[in-house]
Amino acid sequence: APAAPHSASGEAAATHDLAAVAPPARPARRWTPKRVVATPAAYDHAHGRRIMELVESQGIEVERLRSNRLTGLRGETDRETYARAKATMAIVVSPPSRRKLQPIAPSADWRFDLAEGCPAHCQYCYLAGSLSGPPVTRVYADLDDILAGLADYEGRGTITSRRDARRDEGTTFEASCYTDPLALEHLTGSWRRAVEHFGAWDAPVQLRWTTKFDDVDTFVGLPHHGRTRVRLSVNCKPVTTRVEGGTSRLEDRLAALRRLARDGYPVGVTIAPIIAVPDWRDHYTELLDGIADAVRDVPGLDLTAELITHRFTPGSKEVLLGWYPRTKLEMDEESRSRKHGKFGAVKYVYPAATMAELRTFFHTELATRLPSCRILYWT
Ligand code: SF4
Repeated sequence: APAAPHSASGEAAATHDLAAVAPPARPARRWTPKRVVATPAAYDHAHGRRIMELVESQGIEVERLRSNRLTGLRGETDRETYARAKATMAIVVSPPSRRKLQPIAPSADWRFDLAEGCPAHCQYCYLAGSLSGPPVTRVYADLDDILAGLADYEGRGTITSRRDARRDEGTTFEASCYTDPLALEHLTGSWRRAVEHFGAWDAPVQLRWTTKFDDVDTFVGLPHHGRTRVRLSVNCKPVTTRVEGGTSRLEDRLAALRRLARDGYPVGVTIAPIIAVPDWRDHYTELLDGIADAVRDVPGLDLTAELITHRFTPGSKEVLLGWYPRTKLEMDEESRSRKHGKFGAVKYVYPAATMAELRTFFHTELATRLPSCRILYWT
């Protein structure tokens, strides 16, 4: 990878302030899986072997499976299956179907995956409605092939509603649809390599990912060349502290946002899911104040916001109630509006009046506190 200054403009390098990007006193949150398994096929890939070395260097044994199928993950009950799967990481080769990228508006032109599954325990988890089977975390050994395959999509945009806010992004690739990158980076090194790959890719392209973790040490100082936008997924305190088990604290996520922004990365906040908790105005005001503090005085700040209100489907509700039977998360069909998604699937969203109030609040308050922040979409 080129060794030139890693901001798009070089400005951040010129104003590089080591104190601002130095690691925080408190260590980042890191997951230690109880069991790590590797399929025989994973051994055929250099990155698979790199992951195994990285895992073993952290004192975790890698169990070699006899076949490429993952078995033995089910427990006696749904809860047991959930607990067993959530504590397991499998090093596998990605399914061939994943090589044909899917459009993923409004977040990005294309979606690609370096892993599937996440060790955290958010009670609204987006994966509940999208992935089937026990929620084991699979990390992909064939990273080099996956990254090489992205070149075929350069210059092929799919976001037809691209407005001025995104004009300069080039072709965008989202790498966190089915996982949380910073929850797994210390065990895989995969997203670091992706950042370097995009940094060395001399074309208008952008790598994007969002996270609820704060382990950014290995990203600070990478030759990203402004071609990776990292978004921190943040929420108001009642949400982060009550229904986002196993994730990093809000303060630590905001500190990570600041470190990346100071290092010249384009950054963002994904405020999701926006939940109309009691006194939501006060709680979200506190959050927006916290974001404004985190990015204060960052030279050349490039900040975006993605705003996603809470929704659920009959399928995701059923899975989530199996995983979190005592959840306090409101999923009451009666108090929601029924909407039909793209393929006719039903989803429950906030009624129009609540949506309008939330939307006005976020647009107004963000503009007041963070006038340079570009809102990419509201949904
Ligand atoms: Fe699901 Fe994201 Fe929470 Fe992980 S961090 S449990 S992927 S919502």
